[in-house]
Amino acid sequence: MPERRVQVPEPPSPNPLPPPAQTSVRGRGLLPPERIARLTGYGFTAAADGYLYRPTSVDEIREVLALARECGRKVTLRGAGRSYGDANVGAECVVIDVSRFRQILSWDPATGEIDCESGVTIEDLWRHVLEDGYWPPVVSGTMFPTLAGALGMNIHGKNNFCAGTLGEHVLEMDVVLANGELITLAPRSELFFAVISGFGSLGVITRVKMKMKKVHSGDLRVLALAPASWDEEFSIFEEFEHQSDYMVTWIDCFGRGKHAGRGAFHVAWYDSGGPTGFDATLRPEHQDLPDTIMGVVPKSMVWRVLKMFCNRTGMHLMNWAKYKAGRVLGNGKNHLQSLVAFSFLLDYVPNWRNAYLPGGFIQYQSFVPKEKAREVFAKQVELQQKAHLESYLAVMKRHRPDKFLFSHAVDGYSLALDFKVTRRNRARLTKLCHDMNDLVLAAGGRFYFAKDSTLRPSDVRAYMGDEALAKYRAIKQSLDPDGLFTSDLMRRLEL
Ligand SMILES: Cc1cc2nc3c(=O)[nH]c(=O)nc-3n(C[C@H](O)[C@H](O)[C@H](O)COP(=O)(O)OP(=O)(O)OC[C@H]3O[C@@H](n4cnc5c(N)ncnc54)[C@H](O)[C@@H]3O)c2cc1C
Repeated sequence: MPERRVQVPEPPSPNPLPPPAQTSVRGRGLLPPERIARLTGYGFTAAADGYLYRPTSVDEIREVLALARECGRKVTLRGAGRSYGDANVGAECVVIDVSRFRQILSWDPATGEIDCESGVTIEDLWRHVLEDGYWPPVVSGTMFPTLAGALGMNIHGKNNFCAGTLGEHVLEMDVVLANGELITLAPRSELFFAVISGFGSLGVITRVKMKMKKVHSGDLRVLALAPASWDEEFSIFEEFEHQSDYMVTWIDCFGRGKHAGRGAFHVAWYDSGGPTGFDATLRPEHQDLPDTIMGVVPKSMVWRVLKMFCNRTGMHLMNWAKYKAGRVLGNGKNHLQSLVAFSFLLDYVPNWRNAYLPGGFIQYQSFVPKEKAREVFAKQVELQQKAHLESYLAVMKRHRPDKFLFSHAVDGYSLALDFKVTRRNRARLTKLCHDMNDLVLAAGGRFYFAKDSTLRPSDVRAYMGDEALAKYRAIKQSLDPDGLFTSDLMRRLEL
């Protein structure tokens, strides 16, 4: 296949987006125009018009699939739209959004097994099980993703090094294939490991049965540290790797020389709870995030303040201030924090992504084997500094490999980097990402489609390998021979 160079696309207008006056959707005109909607990836940089359907039953999904075929349209699957790039949008496609598939079908506090429709969100899950002393085994940095979308990407959490990915906790799931057939998959089948991580390319996940994690308190014990360099970051990861439940560190990408790699590290453990019976921290009221920051600033205002700082100088200052505050106030201190506050820090600030408008932002996350991670991440940050394109928010985690076909994890570390996109920096940013890719590929690293906007088909071939891609193509051919399921990500990466 010839290589197709991909640029970070033109930014769309701000969200919520009004229906476009002149739609780009063309075709046989059989689908109702009132279904046309402009959908964006979470970073605003990918946007496409499609025909939006929100089915509420398996039969309705079958009807939508049949309708798409009849009209000669492809189908894109969408959950809560929290993937940053173009995985959940499909230009001119019929879009099946599963967010109305939201019933919890059964819950057994004795075993921790829950059976639900796939549009159930991570928030729905924890609200349902926490008072019984359970928590989802793996959560992302936001509680809004659906289980369908979370499994489509096979999300990881800050506990990936010890708990694996979400897919590792699934006992069974139902999937509607392109021909309308409903199949049930369990971890013993090869298809299970392809559909989970398969970015909506193989079938519609409609029901998920999984096991929740037993907890005795709604709080975590958190240790805050302020590493001053890359060496300190990595030695903390190594120290706590076998004796913690969660680890995450934020990195200041403006730190240079001996300050390179400095950041704010958090190690956390499940708390053992009170000495007797029910622990009040398990109540949802204890978890709910406050409406104000520090008791004064309404949360809804915060993104406007952030927007004022959302430039190179402002973010240099904010990153420095965050590091200094951690160093002076929190270094080495322990505190209790609710599971929700620790896990979903970004959900504290509603619409924080608006701070990146009008151009939006991309996230770039690479996963590098442990032996090479320090070298690769340090070089990635040097490249950013050389290009004057430092990431405004950078987060590092520890990972372990898994058996899923499109696994992104390795026995090593990931660095997730948020970059503001503007008209002026788009081409340079694309080049920066490609240069960073080369470092990752040379080190045997991998990438994650939930976060991607700039990979090329050749990058995917390089890290996936011919054998895994051939396996994917064979499965795709058998489950979806007409290539009904697609997305802008799949088109871009020729998958
Ligand atoms: C603030 C923030 C923090 C995040 N933190 C993390 C993190 O810590 N770890 C992590 O791993 N990810 C993280 N993410 C990414 C996010 O968890 C994933 O992108 C997740 O897939 C989003 O789920 P969704 O329901 O929004 O799905 P979408 O983004 O709408 O879709 C995701 C994929 O699933 C496919 N899909 C949708 N529905 C179905 C279906 N019914 N059957 C099969 N496939 C389907 C789609 O086609 C698409 O490819 C974060 C995202 C944000 C915005």
